[in-house]
Amino acid sequence: MRAALFREPGGPDVLRVEQVETPVPGPGEVRIAVRAAGLNHLDLWARRGLPGVPLPHIGGSDVAGEIESVGRGVDRDIGEPVIVDPGLSCGTCEHCLRDEKPLCARYRILGEHRDGGFAEYVVVPSDHAYRIPADFPFAPAAAAPLTFLTAWRGLISRAGLRAGESVLVTGASGGVAVAAIRIARHVGATVHAITTTEKVDRVAALGADHVWDRRDPEHRKALFEATGRRGVDVVFDSVGEATWHDNVRALARGGRMVVYGATTGHAATTDLRHVFWKQLSIIGTTMSNRREFEKVMGLVFDGTLEPVVDVVWPLERIRDAHERLESGRQFGKIVLEP
Ligand code: ZN
Repeated sequence: MRAALFREPGGPDVLRVEQVETPVPGPGEVRIAVRAAGLNHLDLWARRGLPGVPLPHIGGSDVAGEIESVGRGVDRDIGEPVIVDPGLSCGTCEHCLRDEKPLCARYRILGEHRDGGFAEYVVVPSDHAYRIPADFPFAPAAAAPLTFLTAWRGLISRAGLRAGESVLVTGASGGVAVAAIRIARHVGATVHAITTTEKVDRVAALGADHVWDRRDPEHRKALFEATGRRGVDVVFDSVGEATWHDNVRALARGGRMVVYGATTGHAATTDLRHVFWKQLSIIGTTMSNRREFEKVMGLVFDGTLEPVVDVVWPLERIRDAHERLESGRQFGKIVLEP
């Protein structure tokens, strides 16, 4: 089969499209003919070099396609349209047994620890391949899983965001952030979003109530004024170090800080006086459990939450795709078709 892979960590130039052995589904597994696969920042981190990434490596955590063949013990319809839950776990530990697989010590992600969907075929456990409506196009389907499941767990399960509350979404053109804006609007929260000058209009079009330009030196002050000098109930952030202090200050009394990444660095300094005096909660989150995946994907496939697709390119443009995401020029998800 054709696959986009890299044999060593490095820049986008280590990526190649080559013929490789087609993977064979083992017991309990299915082989999916990939129709579309979404690119995530995780693919950039993996390509630059992460421990646990097998080499050579095929990236791609977000897969939409059709079941093409099945392994022993699997009863599925050939040709069934599916998306894949990319979160793999042991299934037997205390966390897995209570449907909290993101806490599993052996948690793995398709496309990071195991070959993903930037190929003609991918093999996954059958119970990770979810049927999707036959009339739902593959490209937006592949744009949905990782970003929407991460945003749903972070905002809803972990932070308990409710109607009438306010949320600040930073780095608002990123895939998870875009999904978070959609979800926050859906639950009836007031959305503040921070992005760069060129993307202000598009973030507003997603439904954010207030969009702040991070290049405006007064934007934090304006944000605070817009909350009635109260602050926001929830901050949803993966910018990390660069804006950590401002984010802590932006929280209202009893506010919750949700951290799902740390793009600009992880060594942030916290003024603990804000934490105890305002009684803040700092909440880490990553990926989702099965229940959250099913819930949020249900809302995507019934049309309630709409994924945003930036471009759809052939798999051969894998390098262009990495460069586009790396430069931050994209808005929404970059999708590749094998
Ligand atoms: Zn486990």
